Amino acid sequence: MTEWAVVTGAAQGIGAVIAEFAVTAGYRVAAWDIDGPAVERTAAEIGDGCVASAVDVADEESVRAAAALLPEPPRLVVNNAGIVRFGPLLDLPLAEWESALRVNLTGTFIVGRTLAGPMGKAGGGAIVNLASVNGLAAAPHAGAYSASKAGIVRLTEHMAMEWAKLGIRVNCVAPGLIHAGMSDAIYADAEVRRVREGAVPLARLGSAEDIAAAVLFLGSEKAGYVTGQTLAVDGGLIKS
Ligand code: NAD
Repeated sequence: MTEWAVVTGAAQGIGAVIAEFAVTAGYRVAAWDIDGPAVERTAAEIGDGCVASAVDVADEESVRAAAALLPEPPRLVVNNAGIVRFGPLLDLPLAEWESALRVNLTGTFIVGRTLAGPMGKAGGGAIVNLASVNGLAAAPHAGAYSASKAGIVRLTEHMAMEWAKLGIRVNCVAPGLIHAGMSDAIYADAEVRRVREGAVPLARLGSAEDIAAAVLFLGSEKAGYVTGQTLAVDGGLIKS
């Protein structure tokens, strides 16, 4: 029997590659994104095994409606949808702070708890949340984003403890400097890219494929005794 995976923020960037890897791993994938037309295009490109839904992860009704369309509870949920809101805390508009917290942290909470109950009743599974190295250490002007991602790290631990009895493992991937998605534009500048690569012990930027591989590992039975953990996929950046 084919198992379902839900991947949020799957229209582009890292989420689109996670969705593709999940289909390759044998899942049927529900690709959820707030950008309906874009996620439809991405699902069509991935092809058989991937279906798209327009979903706002920060809106509980929207998430419940999409969950109701799933023919059965998923075995894997990847909370990947996210937004960046940068700026010094003294000047950051409150709306920017609130949107970072709402999409990144509250969205992960809403999707996780909407699906955990049905997953538990169907025998359990795995949830993988996307944080960031910015959730592990402060970075200039990243206060709102960092706080939301640090919240995801701690929320992951609580989900793992509370939902272990449902047979659900919950882990977190913290990407480092990734040449994909929301960071693509930054690394279009060759000098910026050279400087950032120089900061990484493995001397290269990460790719969406690096992140997707870690997500699929944590979601698989190969990680069957791993829960409540955050795996930095960062070429050693956070330890340097
Ligand atoms: P991206 O901006 O390319 O893609 C994010 C996707 O999330 C978009 O398709 C967007 O439409 C969707 N989205 C935004 N708000 C949503 C909402 N409310 N509901 C549903 N979907 C929504 O970003 P990316 O670079 O692919 O990042 C994916 C994840 O990885 C994010 O959580 C991000 O914080 C994290 N991350 C990325 C990097 C990086 O450098 N790219 C580094 C560290 C962590």
